[in-house]
Amino acid sequence: MKIPFNKLFITGREVDYISQTMELSSISGDGIFDNKVVKLLEDRLHSPKILTTTSGTHALELAMMLIDINPGDEVIMPSFTFPSTANSVIRRGGIPVFADIEPESLTMKLSEIKRKITNRTKAIVPVHYGGGGCPMDDVMELASRYSLHVVEDAAQAVGAAYKGKSLGTWGHIGCFSFHGTKNFVSGEGGAVSINVDDQKLIQRAEIIRQKGTNRSQFLRGEVDRYNWMDVGSSFAPSDILMAFLYAQLEDMDMIIEKRKQISEFYREKLKKYIHSGALVSMTTIPSDITSNYHNFYILSRDKKTRDIIISRMKQKGIQAVIHFVPLHTAPMGATFVNKTEELPVTEMVGNTQIRLPLFTDMQYEEQTYVMDELTNILEELNG
Ligand SMILES: *Cc1c(COP(=O)(O)O)cnc(C)c1O
Repeated sequence: MKIPFNKLFITGREVDYISQTMELSSISGDGIFDNKVVKLLEDRLHSPKILTTTSGTHALELAMMLIDINPGDEVIMPSFTFPSTANSVIRRGGIPVFADIEPESLTMKLSEIKRKITNRTKAIVPVHYGGGGCPMDDVMELASRYSLHVVEDAAQAVGAAYKGKSLGTWGHIGCFSFHGTKNFVSGEGGAVSINVDDQKLIQRAEIIRQKGTNRSQFLRGEVDRYNWMDVGSSFAPSDILMAFLYAQLEDMDMIIEKRKQISEFYREKLKKYIHSGALVSMTTIPSDITSNYHNFYILSRDKKTRDIIISRMKQKGIQAVIHFVPLHTAPMGATFVNKTEELPVTEMVGNTQIRLPLFTDMQYEEQTYVMDELTNILEELNG
């Protein structure tokens, strides 16, 4: 059997909705489906204001422009993340400051954030990993004590919550992704949630997103022509993509439920192997997290064991993959960190993590095959 790491899930309505964009002559940004996506997300996530973007990366870039990250400003984030988190800061001349993560949730440690705060710190970017997330009440309290902005990188966390409140709606700004590898997709796509009750800030976000113009106000009929108001870029996605995304988001709960079942099946099958030798831990969901089951990972005993497991699974046709190469160890990241700086948990996870295939429409036979082969390998390694 061949099991890919990820596979596109189609609800069946995508083509119909895309045809409608042509019939309705709505293919540019802020079209009919964009409106539907915004309403659906605002309702579902209880977000005060959603603005769609062309990617999760662009959502982060918009956020960093909006909070005015300037040259020399420090922004605390995990090293265990995707390069876009750091790029969005570097593009403004800011400096990413890497904090270590918790070994269970793989999200930033609160004590580490605190330790990295200096008088140049401007913002904190908690990255919500794999469907779980940071303890946002503590992060917000810390941020308010030091008057820092909080931009959540909730790229992976659409539909997930901490203490019943959607991830991406806790910080001042939350950033989401609808990239083809995420739970709900438009190929490329993203969104920001503006969570502060500040009409000026929301208006400026709209202007940055619409090429520095107040086109959004014009489209709502609030002004009779639009003009160049501020610096900006082109972050509004085509309505063709929003049509695709709307079809996906209508089935958010069903998609999460399907992924939950796979994740729970994996947990059940692997439980008895934890701490038995080759396998050290696996995805854990803290009780205050409502996961969206974005991914499922295991941590192996060491790097060598990880590589053996991945290559044996590959021989059986199963594509299991490593995840983030910690940014501070990457060629670009290394230019930003002090050589003596150590992020022991990040490095351990970077060396031992394996992500298992998990996609929405994964069949029971496929799930069983992955578990049978993986447990065979583990038993062999545990000898
Ligand atoms: C996917 C991802 C991004 C980037 O989102 P894109 O839509 O691919 O640009 C940023 N941060 C994290 C943590 C991600 O997983």
